[in-house]
Amino acid sequence: MTRRIAVLNQKGGVGKTTTTVNLAAALAREGHRTLVLDLDPQAHATLHLGLMPGRSGPSLYEVLTQGLPLADVRRQVADDLFVCGSHIDLAAAEVELIGTVGREVILRDQLAADEESYEFVLMDCPPSLGILTLNALCAAREVFIPLQAHFLALHGLSKLLETIHLVSKRVNRDLRVSGVVLCLYESGTRLGAEVVEDLEKFFEARKRAPSSPWSEAEVFRSRIRRNIRLAECPSFGQSIFQYAPSSRGASDYASLAGEIQGRAPSGTWAAADRPAA
Ligand code: ADP
Ligand code: MG
Repeated sequence: MTRRIAVLNQKGGVGKTTTTVNLAAALAREGHRTLVLDLDPQAHATLHLGLMPGRSGPSLYEVLTQGLPLADVRRQVADDLFVCGSHIDLAAAEVELIGTVGREVILRDQLAADEESYEFVLMDCPPSLGILTLNALCAAREVFIPLQAHFLALHGLSKLLETIHLVSKRVNRDLRVSGVVLCLYESGTRLGAEVVEDLEKFFEARKRAPSSPWSEAEVFRSRIRRNIRLAECPSFGQSIFQYAPSSRGASDYASLAGEIQGRAPSGTWAAADRPAA
């Protein structure tokens, strides 16, 4: 059973791309076949994984607007690590798809038709709640929300959860928020601890809403500390494990990879494909 995870926060600069790329690299290093879908027209994940947008062939733009199969776009970038890249053209998909019926489920259907099997599909979302993000939410079973621990961290979270709730009610009943990844974390600061406390209260207060898609959400124990190596590695087109394997950034993402494997959300394992105990 593939874990399909949308990495989403409509705010920019919170660590979505860094988390998508380095978590994917951490999983692939352990031998889990992993696919990254770069849904952000800025193509930062594509670049971070060492590909030049546009130069290495078609992108998710052609998948979404012209029905090109994912297999024609996918590139292997390391052992067990694959990416379907982005291109600035993807920004036009929003407008081009306006008249298309079922435009929010194109990616879901393309993934279902893909014959490759992956253990993890990680989707890097743009900083908006438009059609690209909707495609990710319809194709995903889980949402990871990267969040930077500062005093405005929770601002916008209600809007994000509202969108996820609507998608889960109307289109994708399997969708769950698995957790929050604290990024750019300053350990030992009062602010960091306060944000964690606020977040836990925030989710606790909302868990009472019956059948909400975040009833199992938690703040992942693995915090991604601020680490300059994480900020440097994208410009070399390398994950943190290639660029600085003994950095704190590498150990934090390895720890997150370990943690999430112990926590598949319940309800997403259909009885038929539940792994044998
Ligand atoms: P988003 O995709 O949400 O816009 P990014 O992952 O691109 O956010 O991160 C924003 C900026 O912060 C980037 O320059 C990135 O390299 C840097 N960054 C992200 N996480 C860390 C971290 N833990 N430590 C240091 N820099 C980070
Ligand atoms: Mg990004």
